[in-house]
Amino acid sequence: MENGYQEKVILVTGGSGLVGNGIKYAVENGEQRKGEKWIYATSKDGDLTDLESTRAMFAMFQPTHVIHLAAKVGGLFGNLKANLEFLRKNIIINDNVLRTAHENNVQHVVSCLSTCIFPDKTTYPINETMVHNGPPHDSNYGYSYAKRMIDIMNRGYNQEHGRNYTSVIPTNVFGPEDNFNLEEGHVLPGLIHKVYQAKKEGKPLTVWGTGKPLRQFIYSRDLGRLIVWVLREYKETEPIILSVGEEDETSIKEAAEKVAEAMDFKNGLIFDTTKSDGQYKKTADNAKLRRYLPDFKFTPIGEALKETCDWFVANYETARK
Ligand code: NAP
Ligand code: GDP
Repeated sequence: MENGYQEKVILVTGGSGLVGNGIKYAVENGEQRKGEKWIYATSKDGDLTDLESTRAMFAMFQPTHVIHLAAKVGGLFGNLKANLEFLRKNIIINDNVLRTAHENNVQHVVSCLSTCIFPDKTTYPINETMVHNGPPHDSNYGYSYAKRMIDIMNRGYNQEHGRNYTSVIPTNVFGPEDNFNLEEGHVLPGLIHKVYQAKKEGKPLTVWGTGKPLRQFIYSRDLGRLIVWVLREYKETEPIILSVGEEDETSIKEAAEKVAEAMDFKNGLIFDTTKSDGQYKKTADNAKLRRYLPDFKFTPIGEALKETCDWFVANYETARK
């Protein structure tokens, strides 16, 4: 462009998913800046498991910045069934995207890890320095090792090529446009879908496992705002945990009760203890985030769940399920 001014072209891979829609919501509701063009790519724009298709996507959009979200994603039960596929698809996608970003001289890439990739046997709270400190939980080792390699690749692109490639570590995400599939999806969209059905059938809600495990949940629209901030302001190669505080950790039982409340569901809860509990907890430390953004306000979980449940009911026919 003339005058040395270059428009920022920000390519969001996986732009049609839960987190991509959270970013889009944030951009369209206060975060848009002059001189920025946001592109939300989907698998229709190119298959990122294929190198040539990835190159064609970059040639088409010519990004200056990349937020890399595209991945094979699933909840506990999706992972348990297909660890090898989670490993292979995600390794290939991540290598293709980072390599092609580098080939295209993209200076800044923000990729997504997850708190479920942390070591299983660990001390709590877990922080960013502990990603590689021991094997992940057995239930999702494929996804975890693939994701951990993003951090290693970021280190290499930084050390050998001076690139600013970094990563964020969100906790369990929920919100509109989630995957509400009962077998493959995460716990909150699964429970929302099950309450919807149980309400229709006049039955109680069946929660899988004991209900005792603990999770920190983050609303996709809050995560969207935080990822936009990371892209603009965060200069470290090392990852940053994006999470509510330890005090907001919730049991699966409490989460199910909150979903029931948000959907005005009164048929009661039962627990199917033949189903896996997965990792008991993965309590993450958000102290680094708080040092940068002491005043960031997370949406209260009750309010965020109500918006998500209302979205699901209003979009039941077209929602991913
Ligand atoms: P999602 O809703 O399942 O969306 C996945 C996105 O990836 C979709 O836009 C999908 O495109 C795209 N995609 C998948 N395979 C692709 C391929 N081969 N080529 C091109 N695009 C492909 O996932 P999400 O929950 O938003 O997750 C986004 C990121 O956050 C992931 O990296 C995930 O690991 C991370 N994360 C998620 C959670 C969570 O609780 N959901 C927690 C921590 C971290 P189509 O729509 O066209 O299929
Ligand atoms: P994780 O946080 O990576 O383990 O994945 P999930 O979001 O799938 O959460 C799994 C936890 O929620 C486990 O303790 C499950 O036993 C519990 N859970 C209870 N009901 C459900 C359900 O309907 N779907 C899913 N995915 N998990 C459930």
